[in-house]
Amino acid sequence: MVMFNKPYLTGNESAYIQQALFSGHLSGDGSFSKQCHTWLENQTGASKVLLTHSCTGALDIAALLSGVGHGDEVIMPSFTFVSTANAFALRGATPVFVDIRPDTQNIDETLIEAAITEKTKAIVPVHYAGVSCEMDVVMDIAKRHNLLVIEDAAQGIMASYKGRALGAIGDIGALSFHETKNITSGEGGALLLRDSRFSEMAEIIREKGTNRQQFFRGQVDKYTWSDIGSSFLVSDMAAAFLIAQLEQAEIITDLRLKIWKRYFDAFQELLERELIGLPTVPQTCNHNAHMFYLMLPDLERRTAFISYMAARDIHTYFHYVPLHNSPVGKKIGRSHGDMHHTESTSDRLVRLPLYAGLTEEEQENVISAVYSFFGS
Ligand SMILES: *Cc1c(COP(=O)(O)O)cnc(C)c1O
Repeated sequence: MVMFNKPYLTGNESAYIQQALFSGHLSGDGSFSKQCHTWLENQTGASKVLLTHSCTGALDIAALLSGVGHGDEVIMPSFTFVSTANAFALRGATPVFVDIRPDTQNIDETLIEAAITEKTKAIVPVHYAGVSCEMDVVMDIAKRHNLLVIEDAAQGIMASYKGRALGAIGDIGALSFHETKNITSGEGGALLLRDSRFSEMAEIIREKGTNRQQFFRGQVDKYTWSDIGSSFLVSDMAAAFLIAQLEQAEIITDLRLKIWKRYFDAFQELLERELIGLPTVPQTCNHNAHMFYLMLPDLERRTAFISYMAARDIHTYFHYVPLHNSPVGKKIGRSHGDMHHTESTSDRLVRLPLYAGLTEEEQENVISAVYSFFGS
């Protein structure tokens, strides 16, 4: 059997959790959380990083920071996970869906400007598969229209665009450390702030709307309800797990890239025979091998492919059901223009097993099953 994903353990997780247990500080923002903040600030170049219980939570903070509310619009792809849209929908804003590019499956930057209205407040690029959106264009549009850029970099740890880390290019970014992501703490995430503008407010929102962090730093003599907020912190035991992973982020990324490359090389023949499509990584991007996918000719072939692989005990997956076609997306969202590529990708994309511990033998098994599906 070849599993779709298996969390990779570095070996240091339990020792660090033991340390957290014996330190007597189990709640959020203990010494392991602080180590993670520093590590992530150094790696991404963000001026401030705050751990959250999930990327979903980080996006919720971003939506609160953006100040969007009823009647405001937020531009995003429809081909994404629900959290991208939920964060803004929870504030009463309208998600405005734009089609994706057929090569990277990222928001088509050339379609963004036409979707802007006087109600638009933010653009939310999602870096699919850890391959960056065309950020120079996105940032330029945002600057000219005075919009915030909030990056859903859930899949983007250790990936970059023109040398800049994903999540730290826009005003606000969100990373995920969910079990299915490259670096994990089971559940987990981080909020990235490019500059200091939102630092204080982000701390308050993350601490149930209190100025507790300022109190701890001795900047105020009592702490109080200062803004609306919620609890987005992670326990220091989860942070202990996470720092063990972050310390080996480069090793984990290299292992994944090697597997990704092996798939990519192995499938060139099928690409040349025009039986499949393969991922595109633009020259400006260093990706992190978050996933490997094939594009099949149509929904029928993909359904047959997934069953064929399942019969050989190889787990493959498809996603996403486009948000603009979902019950909530239809009710509260709006599509700008044709969603042709979104719908086509959603029908044709299939993800292959990829995780740091996938053996060469398992991978050969997957590759030969793919070839045999295509009759060779
Ligand atoms: C995984 C993912 C999320 C959600 O991350 P959680 O940490 O599980 O909340 C959001 N957006 C995208 C694009 C994702 O892939």
